[in-house]
Amino acid sequence: MSNRLKQCELCGDFMSDQSGGLNLVCPKCIDKDAEMFERVKSRLKYGEKVAVNEIANRTGIDRKHIERWVRAGRLGEGLDI
Ligand SMILES: [Zn+2]
Repeated sequence: MSNRLKQCELCGDFMSDQSGGLNLVCPKCIDKDAEMFERVKSRLKYGEKVAVNEIANRTGIDRKHIERWVRAGRLGEGLDI
């Protein structure tokens, strides 16, 4: 059994990781994370050249979250980030 503990990237709570590293946030934060992600995504245009700082300014969402989604491959497709 590999049931490792990891830290939620949003609230910092420890959670057990049964997803093999796919879950980056704890169950409490999943809805909030999804809402922030949609907010960022809705402000981006396909093929746009945009800096992470610029996205953060537009959406008011901390750049550390935006960078996290880029690292996870959830943002950046079709974008020049
Ligand atoms: Zn959390």
